[in-house]
Amino acid sequence: METFDVVVIGAGAAGMMCAIEAGKRGRSVLVIDHAKAPGEKIRISGGGRCNFTNTGASIHNFLSANPKFALSALRRYRPRDFIALVERYGIAYHEKTLGQLFCDGSAKQIITMLLTEMKAAGVTLRLETSVESVAKAVSGFEVSLSSGKVACASLVVASGGKSIPKMGATGLGYDIAKQFGLNIIETRPALVPLTFEAGMLARLTPLSGVALDAVVGHGKTKFQEGMLFTHRGLSGPSILQISSYWREGDEIRVDMAPGVDALAALKTARTATPRQAVATVLATLLPKRVAQVIAEEEAPDKGNIADCSDKVLGRLASAVNAWTFKPVGSEGYRTAEVTLGGVDTEALDSRTLEAKAVPGLFFIGEVVDVTGWLGGYNFQWAWASGWSAGQSV
Ligand code: FAD
Repeated sequence: METFDVVVIGAGAAGMMCAIEAGKRGRSVLVIDHAKAPGEKIRISGGGRCNFTNTGASIHNFLSANPKFALSALRRYRPRDFIALVERYGIAYHEKTLGQLFCDGSAKQIITMLLTEMKAAGVTLRLETSVESVAKAVSGFEVSLSSGKVACASLVVASGGKSIPKMGATGLGYDIAKQFGLNIIETRPALVPLTFEAGMLARLTPLSGVALDAVVGHGKTKFQEGMLFTHRGLSGPSILQISSYWREGDEIRVDMAPGVDALAALKTARTATPRQAVATVLATLLPKRVAQVIAEEEAPDKGNIADCSDKVLGRLASAVNAWTFKPVGSEGYRTAEVTLGGVDTEALDSRTLEAKAVPGLFFIGEVVDVTGWLGGYNFQWAWASGWSAGQSV
């Protein structure tokens, strides 16, 4: 039987980083993946430009049953460490917004960089190889692969979450965790567009394709980024962000004119330009199509702004500054960028990502119950958890 010090399941962001670090420490490392190519999610990430980190990453940008769990790994491997690696490879990048760093060119440059590092560290990569079973051996583990059996002292599960099954996402990591008695925090699609029921969808159909800056809130959590009306419901960064907090039956509140007191603006218009149509006045605060729908919904029988009572202006202003609705669901794993939940952090050592009760078994990246906001945080978690495990395997 072939023997390696370390077997890593999953040639994604976390698995490749872990393999590089383990290889640099002189460990013999095998990385396997059932996909045809490594780092497929890196390739499609950030619209093909990979938002590879966020300069402001801290535990406040992550969701987990234990919000402090990620601290240790995030401190051991920081955004500046990954930026230094990117710079060493001469990969040009820019900050798009809010500390989000993207490649100027292509996400493929990040994959090439990781593969070059793996090669330099002597890592063996086997693609189109699937895992049939995993078993504890007298010392270490025995892994049955489609290509034959391998033995290893350390087994690293870096098989990611369930999002985008079309790209090879599976629940293998959760199954391995359960096999070894680790608890799983319930998983659900996150960073995902939200959908409306048919009636609401029909009313909002004319808005499909309209984008605006909005503050989107759920309880006390708020995000101010772009929002997009789609033919299924709502998308755009602020909606994807809030989807990680939203649960079935909950309300979402949207301010479509952040920083503008719509009621005061409407009252001023009623005095200054009384003959203007309601939709025309609203269009000074909002995209025209949104203004039209709000005017039709909230003031259907009012022609001019002068015809609107304080009560009607109040209704219009609420629709602008505090539009409240209940989504019926999300687009699910088909389009979700990440999976919320995963391997319970209670079962893992936060410094090394090793299972406390199963020496030699490690879980890194998205399979763990650590989920970042949109904006490069998920890759930073993949790099940081992969790097940390790579120091211990
Ligand atoms: P993955 O990168 O998912 O890697 C897991 C690997 O395991 C895959 O290669 C998979 O083929 C393999 N695997 C799975 N099951 C098996 C099995 N049974 N047998 C063998 N191999 C298996 N995050 C950001 O920070 N910035 C972004 O710009 C960004 N953009 C994104 C865009 C999209 C469209 C999506 C879907 C996600 C995006 N993310 C982004 C999230 C980010 O891609 C993930 O959080 C990150 O890739 C997780 O890394 P990972 O190594 O844990 O898992």
